[in-house]
Amino acid sequence: MLCPMLRVLICECKQEISSFNPVLGRYEDFSVSFGQQVIDAHRGVGSEVGGAISVFDGEPEVEMVPGYSAVAITSGGTVADADFARIAQEFLEAVRSARDVDGIYFAMHGAMAAQTEHDVEGYLLQEARKIVGERIPIVTSLDLHGILTDRIVEHSNAVVLYHTYPHVDFFETGQRSARLLLKILRGEVRPVTARVSIPALVRGVELRTETGKWGSCVRRAIAVENGPRGLSGGMFIGNPFTDVPELCSNVLLVTDDDAALAEREALAIANEFWGMREHLYQQLTPLDECVRLAAAETGHTVLVDAADATSSGASGDSNAILRALVEAGYKRTVLLPLVDPPAVDAAFLAGVGATVHVPLGGSLDPRFEPLEMECKVRMLFDGRFKNESHGSYWNGGRSALLESGNYMMTVTSKAVSLYDRSLFYAMGQDPLDFDTVIVKSPHCQFHMFEGPSKLYLNVDAPGSTSADVRSLGHTRCARPMYPLDAEVAFAPVAKLFRR
Ligand SMILES: [Zn+2]
Repeated sequence: MLCPMLRVLICECKQEISSFNPVLGRYEDFSVSFGQQVIDAHRGVGSEVGGAISVFDGEPEVEMVPGYSAVAITSGGTVADADFARIAQEFLEAVRSARDVDGIYFAMHGAMAAQTEHDVEGYLLQEARKIVGERIPIVTSLDLHGILTDRIVEHSNAVVLYHTYPHVDFFETGQRSARLLLKILRGEVRPVTARVSIPALVRGVELRTETGKWGSCVRRAIAVENGPRGLSGGMFIGNPFTDVPELCSNVLLVTDDDAALAEREALAIANEFWGMREHLYQQLTPLDECVRLAAAETGHTVLVDAADATSSGASGDSNAILRALVEAGYKRTVLLPLVDPPAVDAAFLAGVGATVHVPLGGSLDPRFEPLEMECKVRMLFDGRFKNESHGSYWNGGRSALLESGNYMMTVTSKAVSLYDRSLFYAMGQDPLDFDTVIVKSPHCQFHMFEGPSKLYLNVDAPGSTSADVRSLGHTRCARPMYPLDAEVAFAPVAKLFRR
């Protein structure tokens, strides 16, 4: 007897934004694919959709229905309304035109927001649910930096989230999502979800799941997921820079029809997290002290500018550390990345080998004042390069290597992820050849920067992704919120969801 085919729709929409980056995200900032392109782009790739495909490929009775994918090339500012409307229309059209599907897998991030719609993922789920009806199971995967909302949970049969930070389980998250969807489709499980919200925004080294304090909360959630009644579990710490009404931290546990277990464990994990909240902050060193320490050092020095982390949504055009070094008369060699479209234009106009006088930094985020420098144009290129982390291609747009005295700058016209050495390598620069490197990412793999360094400083610089979250000026998230407010009470409540 032939088994009936299970038709599974796959759609993807992923972006993470900082509300404090003034540059609006555009449709062009996304890599968009339709239909079969979605499968072709992900099969064999270490992404969530790639992981889901690897599971579905092994199930003869599953027929994949590839729908739509819009993945931001890197994190950025709030997505402009019109551009989000286009993405939503294309996403929902893919849902509408997929006929007779039995189940849906949505790969999302959770920290995307548009100017008016602050819960993009919840909106897409709500509208998709209207199209497919109540009966079709939907499993949604999210980044643990996602902002969990009631709408996301209400319209998903189950939510699955990353277990690792730095993230190394994209593929496994997709696999877990696909397996759970199949269990639901086969009637083997009845998911019930417990969500406990915690009024805390956290950021720092203790959030590394393998080595940080927070890891114990995640491991406890994983133990529930892997237990006899567990289906999914983890903790969302949110992206503290995505200032939206439901921004906070959350425990989420999904069990097979065991609400008591989900509720009890979610409350326990939330209490454990609340107890450690004061330790979940990054110690930052004042900028002037960093300059002094770096000047006195003779070994390889890394200045971490996580306040301008493009992979967290910052604009990448901070010159705060550069300015402080220049003003202090810093003599050691420095390598740094910068997003600066007008400076790149000037370099292209002048040509390789020419000297340009350009204002550097602050062309996007007005909190930085441009710094006039005389630079030699050492290299020009189209900005496309293979990244060392995943092997996929990134694109910083037209780019220039500018040299000014002891400063070497990799200047791109668009923000590009900076959590590894790829951009430096693409422009022929080895960070180890410099006394000092400015790294615009909170956490990179140890061997890339921290391992080889003699001095490694987390700099307290201004920026739209500063770990000093109190410096940012949140206006939309619920208050009181730790650490934005002095007095924050926590009375944990588990909300239960079942569909
Ligand atoms: Zn993340």
